[in-house]
Amino acid sequence: MKRRAFLKKAAVGLAAGTIAAPAIAQTQPTVNWRLTASWPKSLDTLFGGPELIAKRVAAATGGKFNIKVFAAGEIVPGLQVLDAVQNGTVECGHTAPYYYFGKDPTFAFSCAIPFGLNARQQFAWMYHGGGLELMREFFKDYNVINIPAGNTGCQMGGWFRKEIRTVADLKGLKFRIGGFAGAVLTKLGVVPQQIAGGDIYPALEKGTIDAAEWVGPYDDEKLGFYKVAKYYYYPGWWEGGPELDLLVNMKAWEALPADYKAILEAACAEAQIDMTAKYDAANPAALKRLIGNGVKLLPFSNDIMAACYKAANELYEETSAKNPKFKKVYDAWSKFRNDQVQWFSIAENRFDNFMIAAQRLSQRAPKKK
Ligand code: CA
Repeated sequence: MKRRAFLKKAAVGLAAGTIAAPAIAQTQPTVNWRLTASWPKSLDTLFGGPELIAKRVAAATGGKFNIKVFAAGEIVPGLQVLDAVQNGTVECGHTAPYYYFGKDPTFAFSCAIPFGLNARQQFAWMYHGGGLELMREFFKDYNVINIPAGNTGCQMGGWFRKEIRTVADLKGLKFRIGGFAGAVLTKLGVVPQQIAGGDIYPALEKGTIDAAEWVGPYDDEKLGFYKVAKYYYYPGWWEGGPELDLLVNMKAWEALPADYKAILEAACAEAQIDMTAKYDAANPAALKRLIGNGVKLLPFSNDIMAACYKAANELYEETSAKNPKFKKVYDAWSKFRNDQVQWFSIAENRFDNFMIAAQRLSQRAPKKK
């Protein structure tokens, strides 16, 4: 559905929920849902997404539509959200759809694929670029409707116990990394590990894995990775702007009154903006604290980035050749991405680069006495 259309519907729903609350209370049913999240409660950014959705939905329906939010592991483990929603164990879940890459790599388009879209471009693709229609068609086969409901912005490349200078340094590296990026890195000799957020630290501490990526400074600091791996690389080229989705069981969705549906979609749209804003506001200070704790901040070399880009494109060709669902989305998506990269290279890029250079110059200039 186009963003404007559902915001319009949502506005009607919200007005009904606030101005005409007594009417709703008499005519609308009480709906109690359970939501299982892929996140631990300690990550207030990610877990804050479903919490905000539940709060808004309850407020806008006069408390009639209640969504109880459960953390990873309380009902099902963090990586089993899709199954729990699909089979009706819960009515909905909040997750990163690329976790289900193993079932079908097409899931990743509802989150992120390597060298894909940044957050702004992902919003554009889903709301106005045909992405939501394509992904809803895909999710239908899993008895699920997906609603964009969060975005972290471009992520960091992760925590490494030793320096990664060349492509050869990737060989044999046991790296906690999700979804498509693991398959790309396999081509370069990495041994990818898919581990839910709360379980990464002990694996890195014990040395079961050599490296781990999670999100960015604010979350990564909370999980304490800097205590056991000092090299912090950037960017997370596999997650330029990963979307998180609210997955809703189709039967539960269809049973909702139209105004509850509109309210839920509007709450998810708000959660998207709120999450990105929260990360952008919190990350700078967290990064300063990490550097103060002795973290070595390093960019991936151009050689490493170029080798990964080549491997990713090969993988997309191979996947397209054997998976028609993937090909259908990939063909439309890659055209959209290429146009976005061109457009962003004009005003946004020039503006950002000028501001970065200007700030660096002013920091270097000697202070006037
Ligand atoms: Ca990540």
